[in-house]
Amino acid sequence: MQILKKIFSKAKAEEIRLEITKYDVNEMKDSDQKHQNKVHKDLEKKLEVKDRSVVMVYEKRFIGKFKKLGNTHQKCPYCRNAYKTLTLGEKKCVKCSKTFMVKKRVQDLGTVAYPLENKKQFDLQWTAISKVKKFKFYLNHEYVYIEQELKKKGKINLQTTDVMHSVINAYAKNSLNSGYYELYTAFIFYKAELMRSEQRFSEALVYYFYVHFLQNNGVDNEANFQAKNNMNKELRQRIVDLLDLGNIQIKESKDLFDYAVEHLSVFSQTRMSVNTYKSYKILIKEFKEEDAQKQVKKPMRSFVLYTKAS
Ligand SMILES: [Zn+2]
Repeated sequence: MQILKKIFSKAKAEEIRLEITKYDVNEMKDSDQKHQNKVHKDLEKKLEVKDRSVVMVYEKRFIGKFKKLGNTHQKCPYCRNAYKTLTLGEKKCVKCSKTFMVKKRVQDLGTVAYPLENKKQFDLQWTAISKVKKFKFYLNHEYVYIEQELKKKGKINLQTTDVMHSVINAYAKNSLNSGYYELYTAFIFYKAELMRSEQRFSEALVYYFYVHFLQNNGVDNEANFQAKNNMNKELRQRIVDLLDLGNIQIKESKDLFDYAVEHLSVFSQTRMSVNTYKSYKILIKEFKEEDAQKQVKKPMRSFVLYTKAS
């Protein structure tokens, strides 16, 4: 009984991996379509074109929150008095006595002076594009091959990220068709990471949401779904960081979550035990505390009346 309890609690605490190992990739490549019948049923889904406007609404919000902060002119952000310092950190203005910060900002690595009240947003901007995980190439020639193919198609000014998107898409598709759904999910996670590095925050969030949905449904590498509620800690952190950057509450983001699943999910909903709504509810529960800490200000009534009258 004790042993059973132990095994059960261990299984419960397990989270779905987001790692891409050489072993998994090679196994997937050698799998020889053994799950083909299952996969065929799982992927029975009608493709619909979704209205992207919701993504644009969130993108606009992210752009606002990611705008460059501070001045590069070595001036106090309060009284514009010139300061002289070669060090970074907290400073006190000799003229107005107010405290301000001197740091490098993430957008252009320029040394800027910014008021203390911007400190939180300044740090969130750094967090939002730091620690991007890069997918290691186990077979480097595939990268080179895809690069050549894209060039052949007439792509000019080819960036590393363009090639990376294509490589990840190709691997994701292969994993999917081989029934390696856990591996497929990991590639989707890496796609989100790549988008985050490109400052495409709204799209990255959409992909992280989709990863959450797939993990709720317990994807594995045997073309199975077994519902799981434990959230991968890394995924959780990524979602937290982006929601913080945009000052977005999960409970107010149903539109974006619905879009993520409807737009990205390749699976037939009838094959999955956790539907979009249930998966969203799990997310609300998971981020209850974070949501409560964010009191998104509603416009004041007087302001509303004023704009109506004018
Ligand atoms: Zn000053």
